[in-house]
Amino acid sequence: MSISRVVIIGSGQAGVECAVALRHDGFSGSIVMIGDEPDLPYQRPPLSKEFLKSVEDSSLPLKGEAVYTQSEIERRLGETVVSIDRAANEVELSNGERVPYDHLVIATGARNRFPPIEGLDTSKVLELRTLAHARTLTGRLDGLKHVTIIGGGFIGLEVAALLRQRDIAVDVLEFADRLMGRVLSPMMSAQFLRLHEEMGTRIRLQTVAKSVAEKGDRFAVTLSNDDTLETDAIVMAAGVVPNVELAAEAGLEIDNGIVVDEMLLTSDPSISAIGDVANHPNVWATGRIRLESVQNAVDQGKCVAARLAGKSYPYRDLPWFWSHQGKQKLQIAGLTVGMDDAVMRGDPADNKFSVFVYRGDQLIAVESLNAPADHMVARRLLAAGINVTKEQAADPAADLKSMIPRPAA
Ligand SMILES: Cc1cc2nc3c(=O)[nH]c(=O)nc-3n(C[C@H](O)[C@H](O)[C@H](O)COP(=O)(O)OP(=O)(O)OC[C@H]3O[C@@H](n4cnc5c(N)ncnc54)[C@H](O)[C@@H]3O)c2cc1C
Repeated sequence: MSISRVVIIGSGQAGVECAVALRHDGFSGSIVMIGDEPDLPYQRPPLSKEFLKSVEDSSLPLKGEAVYTQSEIERRLGETVVSIDRAANEVELSNGERVPYDHLVIATGARNRFPPIEGLDTSKVLELRTLAHARTLTGRLDGLKHVTIIGGGFIGLEVAALLRQRDIAVDVLEFADRLMGRVLSPMMSAQFLRLHEEMGTRIRLQTVAKSVAEKGDRFAVTLSNDDTLETDAIVMAAGVVPNVELAAEAGLEIDNGIVVDEMLLTSDPSISAIGDVANHPNVWATGRIRLESVQNAVDQGKCVAARLAGKSYPYRDLPWFWSHQGKQKLQIAGLTVGMDDAVMRGDPADNKFSVFVYRGDQLIAVESLNAPADHMVARRLLAAGINVTKEQAADPAADLKSMIPRPAA
């Protein structure tokens, strides 16, 4: 069946990339992008890298308004899709309107996970997923002397560093025995523990909040070791859950996200899923994975757009990520899943080094701290399938850049 109408649910990074790339790739049919957030689609990463300049600040658009107009992308912003009717090839909006599609792209992203904590009124907790959350946090900053952050992952630690820059006392509660343990090598986790402690943050590993009691406009948080923290605000940064409900109710296969194949097609050939919500087979992992990153959202959006425009290719892009925590700039190329060894290149005492991460003798990822040149070289080597031996990685005199294959003349 020829496709003359693509509907995209979600106006985040993946949805926007897909819409714009469709037109760029020569798709001439109609493109409708439906998103439940009212703002012009915006970038999420800056929300945790610096505080908004004011609560009205909305200076983070992904694309200027003109791009959507010129690309003839119909934006339905501030509208929610409530169901997918696969038999009729239609989605239904909360106002009852039905929007037909030839192909549907689900880019519904994820929302913050709230672990069960006795006595916690989640409506009083701060979080950082959307511009609306960032506005709320910005509006509260002046009254804060102490903040408790639940979760020692990227976002929790980025926020901790920002709060410390304003001299606000911070306790970070992390369930695991190291920081950012889901994504980083133990060496890099240890470096960030030291850095955050130097910033003055109290990091409490292997600690969870057992219960919360309200004390006027403050909170008393009882920890798993029975300590109690008196705090002005609680920031929830304990990971995310993918927004799969629409897909699940429509009978699509779900398993920690919407299950897609390497072309990013769901179990229904008229429906694709991309971005944070898509559980996809990834050649850089040891199997299926759901990635939460700008790279993944952008490249999956482009991959689906190319297929719908008749230029099909499987999704095999190299994953990469970044995180800015105060002055510290962390960049990661590849995935550390299944790692069993790591080699340091440089000296942690300089706070400028890279960790080369291995599965067996195979280089699978490179984590660079304040070493952007290492990161760029690592991306090119990994993408080209060049293995760096552990000896080469550990030897600062080994010229890794010279190993990058030259493009054919
Ligand atoms: C604070 C923060 C900092 C980050 N920093 C980094 C970083 O430094 N580097 C990095 O690589 N990544 C970072 N990320 C992750 C990155 O932003 C995400 O991976 C990316 O935004 C995922 O894009 P997406 O389009 O899949 O999902 P989203 O951007 O979440 O967009 C999904 C959209 O769909 C909407 N939606 C959901 N259900 C419906 C429905 N039924 N109807 C209509 N609309 C719906 C949602 O409201 C949302 O607007 C950060 C994320 C956050 C929150």
